[in-house]
Amino acid sequence: MAQLALKIDVDTWHGTRDGVPALWQVLAEEDVQATFLFSLGPDHTGRAIRRVFRAGFLQKVRRTSVVANYGLRTLLYGTLLPGPRIAARCRDVLRETAKRGHEVGVHVHDHVEWQDRVATADERWTRNEFRRACDIFHDVFGVAARVHGAAGWQTNEHLFALEREFGFTHASDTRGDGPFVPVVPNLSDAVPQWPTTLPTLDELIGHECLAGADPVDFLLAATAATPNRDHVYTLHAELEGQAYRDSFLRLLRGWRAQGRQLVTLEAMASATHRAALPHAPVILGTVAGRSGTLAVRGVPSA
Ligand SMILES: [Zn+2]
Repeated sequence: MAQLALKIDVDTWHGTRDGVPALWQVLAEEDVQATFLFSLGPDHTGRAIRRVFRAGFLQKVRRTSVVANYGLRTLLYGTLLPGPRIAARCRDVLRETAKRGHEVGVHVHDHVEWQDRVATADERWTRNEFRRACDIFHDVFGVAARVHGAAGWQTNEHLFALEREFGFTHASDTRGDGPFVPVVPNLSDAVPQWPTTLPTLDELIGHECLAGADPVDFLLAATAATPNRDHVYTLHAELEGQAYRDSFLRLLRGWRAQGRQLVTLEAMASATHRAALPHAPVILGTVAGRSGTLAVRGVPSA
């Protein structure tokens, strides 16, 4: 039976505090476990306003109504208001997620800074941000993190070396059709990647590729058309855990009805032998409905 891994990106303080517990309920109703990837340092969402000046972001704001979903206060954190430290304020929520049997991992230290800077950052900056996230994770959970999913699918080659050095066993930092071992200069044994294979809800809402179809129906049709392929679906605590809970429940039930086994990234990764994975470079690509470039699986080497 083909698997579908649920990867939950948690980007903000409000998403952690309110969206994560709401997702526990939806997942418990369907008796499903998922991978929660946490933003652990300050919530500087307000600084994302810088992106207003980038092509494509304004259209996205109009389509998904960022203010309605993220809230005005959240959009001011890091600008007019100081950014709340997420793990410090939501320690109980983070620990309870693990206690409920979900897989927990590292999304990022500072989402906005990582998303805006990592693609061109040097080793020192990357190491500093990565280490801070890992240190907070260890402080909260008492164990080292084993799974990483880069904020905004933004990476650089230093990240892949750091994942190896810090003992990560699997990662989902990229977009693409299926799992692979990243080919990285001076790194022979990079941590395998399980890329996000499906579009996210915020990429689909209001996008012309839907031609008026409902995003949930679009996603169910995409998995129905590829019944033998494993998929990774990325959702957000700020969307599926808040205004789009009903859509998420419908997705889970639809995937169940298709015979999909809904799993964590860990379960999906442990079902595959590393030696069986293709090797491929990580390249910069674009995804419909998302502004800018992001990390994508390149063409696998023979
Ligand atoms: Zn994120």
